[in-house]
Amino acid sequence: MAVTLGTPLSKVLGPKTATGMADQLGLHTVLDLLRHYPRRYARRGEQADLADVQVGDRVTVLAQVRSVTSRPMRNRRGSLTEVVVGDGSGRMKLVFFNHRHGQLKVNAWGMFAGTVGEYRGEKQFAHPDMHLLDSSDDETDWARALVPIYPASKDVSSWVIQKSVKLLLGAGGGFGELIEDPLPEEIRARHGLLPLASALLDIHRPTTTEDVERAEQRLKWDEALTLQLTLAARRRAAALEPGISRPRRAGGLLDAVDAALPFALTEGQREVGEELAAELDRDQPMHRLLQGEVGSGKTVVALRAMAQVVDAGGQAALLAPTEVLAAQHVRGIRALLGPLGRAGEIDGDPAGTRVTLLTGSLKAAAKREARAEVAEGRAGIVVGTHALLQEGVEFADLGLVVVDEQHRFGVEQRDALRAKGSRPPHVLVMTATPIPRTVAMTVYGDLEISTLRQLPSGRGGVSSSVVPVVEKPGWLDRAWERLREEVAAGRQAYVVCPRIGDVTGAEDEPEDADGAPPDEDGRSDRRPPLAVLDVAEALRAGPLAGLRLEVLHGRMTPEEKDGVMRAFAAGETDVLVATTVVEVGVDVPNATVMVVLDADRFGVSQLHQLRGRVARSKHAGLCLLVTEAPSASPTGQRLAAVASTSDGFELARLDLETRREGDVLGAAQSGRRSGIKLLSLLADEELIAEARGEATALLSTDRGLADHPGLAAEVAALATDERAEWLEKA
Ligand code: ADP
Ligand code: MG
Repeated sequence: MAVTLGTPLSKVLGPKTATGMADQLGLHTVLDLLRHYPRRYARRGEQADLADVQVGDRVTVLAQVRSVTSRPMRNRRGSLTEVVVGDGSGRMKLVFFNHRHGQLKVNAWGMFAGTVGEYRGEKQFAHPDMHLLDSSDDETDWARALVPIYPASKDVSSWVIQKSVKLLLGAGGGFGELIEDPLPEEIRARHGLLPLASALLDIHRPTTTEDVERAEQRLKWDEALTLQLTLAARRRAAALEPGISRPRRAGGLLDAVDAALPFALTEGQREVGEELAAELDRDQPMHRLLQGEVGSGKTVVALRAMAQVVDAGGQAALLAPTEVLAAQHVRGIRALLGPLGRAGEIDGDPAGTRVTLLTGSLKAAAKREARAEVAEGRAGIVVGTHALLQEGVEFADLGLVVVDEQHRFGVEQRDALRAKGSRPPHVLVMTATPIPRTVAMTVYGDLEISTLRQLPSGRGGVSSSVVPVVEKPGWLDRAWERLREEVAAGRQAYVVCPRIGDVTGAEDEPEDADGAPPDEDGRSDRRPPLAVLDVAEALRAGPLAGLRLEVLHGRMTPEEKDGVMRAFAAGETDVLVATTVVEVGVDVPNATVMVVLDADRFGVSQLHQLRGRVARSKHAGLCLLVTEAPSASPTGQRLAAVASTSDGFELARLDLETRREGDVLGAAQSGRRSGIKLLSLLADEELIAEARGEATALLSTDRGLADHPGLAAEVAALATDERAEWLEKA
C-alpha cells in the first residue's frame, strides 16, 4: 500500500497505538502524526529537567539508573523496590510494588514517564511507565545527542510516538517522495527555508540543536503563512462586498459638531478623521480598528464619522459595553449637538437628527419608542448596549457601526450588528487596549488599523506607585492622606476593589478581575479579595471620614448606576468606591486620584485601563497600586512594571507575556488539534510580518491560490477544522 500524508494511522500502526493516538492526542492521519512535534529534546547526561520537575507534573525523563534496592514491605506482603535514577543534575526516586525489575540495572539508560509525586519531602514516581534501552533498540536511536520527548498521553507514551514516527519517516520507498511541499519554491528560496521533508525529518530526528532551529523556522512558516492566507482571503472577500458610499456633505451635522467642539482636534484625530472620511466615501464597507491610549479622544473621532454618515442620509450605531458608558456617550453627544440632536422636539432643529439610547434596562414603553425611532430612521445616531443586537431592532438604513472598547465584544457581536444593515455597513472598532503588532496581524488580521498616538495636550499625566502594605504599612495611611489632600483641593477620587461584597448572601464572584491568576506566586492561603461594600464602610468610618463617598458596582440597577455616575460627574461626590465598572471609558476629568486595592488581583492591561480614568484632566493624576504581594515576587514585579511605564504598547506586551499566548489565541495553542504549534506571537514578530507580506502577494493575483493547490488545501483545512474557531473568538 502506498502511504500518503492522508493515510489513516490505523492503516500503518497497530490498532492499540492508532486508537490511543486518535482518542487521546487527536492524531488521525500520517500528516497529523508528522505534525505532532517534540515538546523538547532530552540530552543524555546533561539535562536539568529532573531538578526542575514539579509535583503533579506529568513528565518524561531520560535518565540513568544509579541504584536499585528491594526490600519486603513492613505491613503488607510483597516487596518494595526503590530505584534511583539520575541525569547529571538531578536525582529522582522510582518506586515499584512487587515489581520484577530484571532489566533495571545500575547504569542502564531509560526513559521514565509518569506523574511526579512526593513522599516525605522527596519527589518520586510511583510505578512509572518506562522504556529501557536494550539490545533490541537501534543503538543509534539512543546514541543520538538529542532524544525527542513528545507530548504524550496515558496510553501513548513518548517512546511509542518516537517509534511510530521513525517507522513513517522510513516508510514507503523514500520519505522525500511521500511529502509534497506546499510552499512555493521561490518563497522558500527568498526566506532561506528548508524543504518540508527535511524540516520534518530534522524536527523528529535532529542531530544538533541547529537542526531543530532550522526545522522549526520552516515549520513556523507553514503555520504563519496558512494563517495569514486565511486572513488575507477574508480581507479580500470583505473588500469585494458591496457597500454604500456615505460622502461628506457641507453644512450638516458634521460641520455643526466641528463648530461646537470646545477644543481643537489633535493632529492624530484630524489625520484619522480624514482617513475615515475617505473610506466612508467609498462603496466598499470600511473595516477599521482605531486603537488609542485611554483618553486619546477616540469618541470624538467616532462621532465625526457618525455625523458624516447621518449627513449622507444613513444611520450610525454606537455599541458600548456597559449601560454606564452608553448613557455617558448619549449625554456627551446630545450636549455637543444641542438642538441639532433634538429634531422633532419643540426646541429641536428640524435640520438635525435624534440621538437615541437603546439599552436593556429601558422600560417597555420607552424601548418601543426607541425601536420605532430606529426603524423609521428618525434616529440618526443610536447608542446602546447588547440590546442593540437583539432581534426586533431594525434600522431604516444602517450606514456605520462603531464598536467601543472592542475587547469586551466578540466578532460574533460585531457581525450581528453588521447584519442589521441591508447592505454591509461600514465598521469602526475602537479599543484602548493597545495591541502589539503581531496580535494585530493575527487575531485582528482582518481589520485595517489606525492609531492615535498622541494625547490631547494640556494633560497633567499620571504618576503611579506601588504601595506594598506588608513591607511598608505606613504607606497606606499616606495614600489615604494624599487622597484627602486632593479632595481638599477640589478634586475627586476612585477607590477600586476586586469584589462587590456580600449584602444578600448571594454568591459574590470577583467582579471581572481577570488577567491575574490567583495562585501566580503559588500562594494558596489567600484571604478573599477586598470588597467594595466592606471597604466603603471602613473608609467612611476611618481614613476617609467626612468625605462624600458613594459606591458603584455591577449589582446595582442601571438607574442607580447612572445616578451615581451623574452625581460623581457633577462633583457632588468626592470618592467613588467601585469595582472595575469604572474601567471602561468612564470620563470624569476632575477625578485625579485612584487607589486600587488588591491591585495584584488585576491584569496588567486592566490596571492600565483603570489608571486611565485619572489621566483626563489638566491636573496631574495619581494612581496607587496597593498590594500585599512582596516586591520581589513575580506579582510585585508585574505591578512595578505597570507603575514604571505609561506606554500602553509596552504593557500590552508584558500582558501577553504574563498571560501566556495561548489565552490570546483562545484555545489555539492549548487545543490538541491547533494549527498553531510552534509559532509565538511575541518571538516571531518578524516572521509573521514576512508571511503576511507573502500572503497578500499570493492573493493579489486574480488566480488567487489556484496555482498553489498545496497551500489552498492547507487553508481549506484550517477553515474547516475546529481549530478555526479561535479565529472567530478574537
Ligand atoms: P478615549 O479615547 O479613552 O475614549 P475620550 O474620547 O473619552 O477618550 O476622550 C477623553 C477626554 O478628552 C474627553 O473628555 C474628551 O472630551 C477630551 N478630548 C478629546 N479630544 C480632545 C482634544 N483634541 N483636546 C482636548 N480634549 C480632548
Ligand atoms: Mg472611550
